Amino acid sequence: MRPTGPDAYRDGTDMFVPREERVESGSAIRGERVVRVDACVIGTGAGGAPVAKELAEGGMSVAMLEEGEHFTTDDMTARPRDMTPLLYREAGQTVTVGNVPVMLPLGRGVGGTTLINSGTCFRTPEPVLAKWRESFGLTSLTPEALDPFFRRVERELSVTQVPAELAGNNALVVKRGADALCWSGDFIHRNARGCVGSGVCVFGCPTSAKQHTGITYVPKAWDAGATTYAGVRAREIVMRGGRAAGVIASTAGGGTLRVECDTVVVACGAIHTPPLLARNGLGGRSGELGENLAIHPCSAVRALFEEEIDMARGVPQSYYVDEFAGEGIMFEGAAGPPDYLASTLPFNRERHRELMLEFKHLAQFGVMVSDRSRGRVRERLGRTTIEYSLVPEDVETFRRGLELLADLYWEAGARRVFVPVSGVQEMHGRDSRPLHGRRLRARDLTLMAFHPLGTARADARPEHGVVDESLRVHGTDNVYVADASAIPSSLGVNPQITIATLATRLAFHLLGSEAPADEPHPETVARAGQLDSERAISRSNTRSGSTRAKAARAFAPRPTR
Ligand SMILES: Cc1cc2nc3c(=O)[nH]c(=O)nc-3n(C[C@H](O)[C@H](O)[C@H](O)COP(=O)(O)OP(=O)(O)OC[C@H]3O[C@@H](n4cnc5c(N)ncnc54)[C@H](O)[C@@H]3O)c2cc1C
Ligand code: SF4
Repeated sequence: MRPTGPDAYRDGTDMFVPREERVESGSAIRGERVVRVDACVIGTGAGGAPVAKELAEGGMSVAMLEEGEHFTTDDMTARPRDMTPLLYREAGQTVTVGNVPVMLPLGRGVGGTTLINSGTCFRTPEPVLAKWRESFGLTSLTPEALDPFFRRVERELSVTQVPAELAGNNALVVKRGADALCWSGDFIHRNARGCVGSGVCVFGCPTSAKQHTGITYVPKAWDAGATTYAGVRAREIVMRGGRAAGVIASTAGGGTLRVECDTVVVACGAIHTPPLLARNGLGGRSGELGENLAIHPCSAVRALFEEEIDMARGVPQSYYVDEFAGEGIMFEGAAGPPDYLASTLPFNRERHRELMLEFKHLAQFGVMVSDRSRGRVRERLGRTTIEYSLVPEDVETFRRGLELLADLYWEAGARRVFVPVSGVQEMHGRDSRPLHGRRLRARDLTLMAFHPLGTARADARPEHGVVDESLRVHGTDNVYVADASAIPSSLGVNPQITIATLATRLAFHLLGSEAPADEPHPETVARAGQLDSERAISRSNTRSGSTRAKAARAFAPRPTR
């Protein structure tokens, strides 16, 4: 049995230290370098790092290519203004194009987006797996078959539950409101050990407590002989017939790295995997490549209390309310330091200043909607664009989520509640009528999203998906996708455990190994309330023939070399 209680969460001892840091900086590669390995893994985030580590421990020689740099805990200053440009792609300003702009931040560095994520861990909800089996022919993805892989990932990442005393007042007021309303919720399970509740997870953990893949899986891969090339961007997958023979990458030093290999695993994330495959004429036959983008959009409600909240103290995402998960609504903590609130408050000038002066009394919690909307990723003139429009059903779900969260805050004793809806914004005296009475359009909402998925989705049928059940790209012998893009539908929960679990399963498949037999059972498992079955199905499953044809043309397959 693996402990998951408060002692395990606080225990920061015995962290894994590799014998050698096998990381090479791309800025030092100025000419051409050729390396020969069994497997080349592109990307070192939630998907890439687990595959690389498992393959290396299984005896393969592995090269990991990562476009971002390698950062150590000493680089983490905990100051948002230093860390955002360093750890986030486009300094965190990635945004979607559609009927409402959605900020969609992505990490870039060894560890990928796990470097800057909130550390929340949920297993894939069982109704979602059931729908994958039913709608996408992924018949072997049963909870029983995945359980040994979930256990392995949770052990590698030290997934444990946040203790109440580290959760912070921002979580405790929400718990108070939820308890008063008898709504279901709990403290979150996280991949953290020795966490002190410093409140800056999304700006890089300054204490090495957050167990992101850059300090867990990647060093273990080094110990098993793998090498990470950081500051190296894969641009071409070299194909001979239906087989990949290698990868060509540009280095930060202006040089070229050629990796000759027998297996290529693409794990660049849901936004960057489709363009890389498309550029190389891979995965485009079904017309699904780049399509089917779910983002799990979210918004945040703020509330002003008499009591001190100080949302800079405690674990920022430490509590969730899943009472309405069946409707596709999850509430999760969204605290952080003052700079974080300042950059997201939907007010300006004097009003912004006035509220920031009340920082110590402000609380903030997120509303996440399991989206029915679907977007797409495209590459135009060398630039990746993300198209996404919110369908009216999702706008209504947001209205319901915002209303419910406002009710919860009133119940918890809030004096004022702020909803990020243009024309409403501030409510007083337990009165949510300004929000109830308003006709909402997508553009009235202020949205962010942290969980892009589905753009190279798994489907056993080559005409409906990009990769098969083992995550092999349809139509190829040895190119695989092991990241968020292979996840076929919305999950309704945070995705890193799902991604790492499917990636681990892929590695075992490539090694020809059985599922691990001796992984300890955790004392407690994080399972959120369940999505209703309709929401677990991808909307694009029902796309019309003409839309499908248009999609097929946009990423039309080119002949393989
Ligand atoms: C602020 C924030 C908070 C989040 N919080 C949570 C949370 O609490 N729990 C949770 O489950 N999820 C969370 N997520 C989401 C989660 O971290 C991601 O879903 C997950 O990391 C995606 O894994 P991935 O392997 O698909 O991609 P990533 O982790 O993004 O890794 C992809 C890597 O590939 C690299 N890359 C891209 N193109 C190339 C190329 N051509 N050559 C070489 N390298 C390339 C990128 O630089 C990147 O490092 C959060 C996300 C954000 C932004
Ligand atoms: S709360 Fe602080 S110590 Fe804990 S994981 Fe987040 S950044 Fe690290």
